[in-house]
Amino acid sequence: MRPLQMVDTRSQYLKIKNEVDAAVINVMESSQFIGGKVVNDFAAQLAAYNGSKHVIPCANGTDALQIAMMALGLKAGDEVITPSFTYIATVEVAALLGIKPIFVEVDKKTFCLDPDAVEKAITPKTKAIVPVHLYGHAADMEKIMAIASQHGLFVIEDNAQAIGNDYTFSNGTVKKTGSIGHIGCTSFYPSKNLGAFGDGGAIFTEDDALAEKLRMIASHGQSKRYYHDVVGCNSRLDAMQAAILSIKLRHLDEYIAARRKAADFYDAAFAGHNKIEVPYRHPNNKHVFHQYTLVLHNVDRDGLSQFLSEKGIPSMIYYPVPAHRQQMFDAFGGSDYQLEVTDWLTERVISLPIHTELDQEQQQFIADAVLEYINK
Ligand SMILES: *Cc1c(COP(=O)(O)O)cnc(C)c1O
Repeated sequence: MRPLQMVDTRSQYLKIKNEVDAAVINVMESSQFIGGKVVNDFAAQLAAYNGSKHVIPCANGTDALQIAMMALGLKAGDEVITPSFTYIATVEVAALLGIKPIFVEVDKKTFCLDPDAVEKAITPKTKAIVPVHLYGHAADMEKIMAIASQHGLFVIEDNAQAIGNDYTFSNGTVKKTGSIGHIGCTSFYPSKNLGAFGDGGAIFTEDDALAEKLRMIASHGQSKRYYHDVVGCNSRLDAMQAAILSIKLRHLDEYIAARRKAADFYDAAFAGHNKIEVPYRHPNNKHVFHQYTLVLHNVDRDGLSQFLSEKGIPSMIYYPVPAHRQQMFDAFGGSDYQLEVTDWLTERVISLPIHTELDQEQQQFIADAVLEYINK
């Protein structure tokens, strides 16, 4: 059996090595390392894939979120509503801009923003809602968009973990996550579902004026060369990454299918086990399984993780400390929050290896080991 890893980016690369190597050499020979045709082509391809009018490439997913908040004119003293059960980047960028993150509860099954909790957290200072499509499952966008529209709020989707997820509205309209809110943000961090060979990110929007602003902010607030209209930053996707991403984008649906197949395998292996809750799949969206995350009931999680590790099986806790309990947010009253579901999940979740290169033998070995420990 091949060694087990949380993600296997090397095996994935080897399958498309010829194409990728040629594309990288092309960029080197052209010596157009920043901007240019390769980057623009990738942005156009990604826009077409996502059904989005505009794609603004940038340096990483964290920047994408920051640039989104800047372009929407959010400023110090404003509030944004976000989950605490997320990767830190979502809320860190708000804090960096002096914006107050307001942490709200997630749904116990989907791990994503609880719309009722969002509604209760709205104050006159609220400017935006930032749902995170955690682990590849979509947040309840229909309700979140309705709340936002009712209260005149912006929605910034953190789509770093869910690129390719199809979300269906109750009227039958289907949209990709990241194309539903006023702005969508994603990351091409190597382990993400569409991963570069380094850092990268992108911002999505349907709005022409907003697209202009996002582009400007990502490029030193520049409207034309050496004319800087607003304070911006420097956030670029380089041509080498864009060339690689163009190739990988063509395989993205295949990659998602492989992840779903792996998730189906685990689901079947753990079916009906009362100590293991397999990932919930709400029928309104198609989970892309960036992570395969179990909720454990009455299981010694550290013991399981140790047991798996001794068998050469990696596992991870995403995330061991929710944002509101991070020291970083002490100044924002983080410790005052009472988020029972978030704390409950933080103590019980565990993620198993899931990626495009897992084979059945590996998965059987992993599932057997989990069950062996739990049935002990
Ligand atoms: C990865 C990730 C980010 C940040 O992306 P980077 O490219 O690492 O900056 C933001 N939010 C979520 C939910 C992520 O998973």
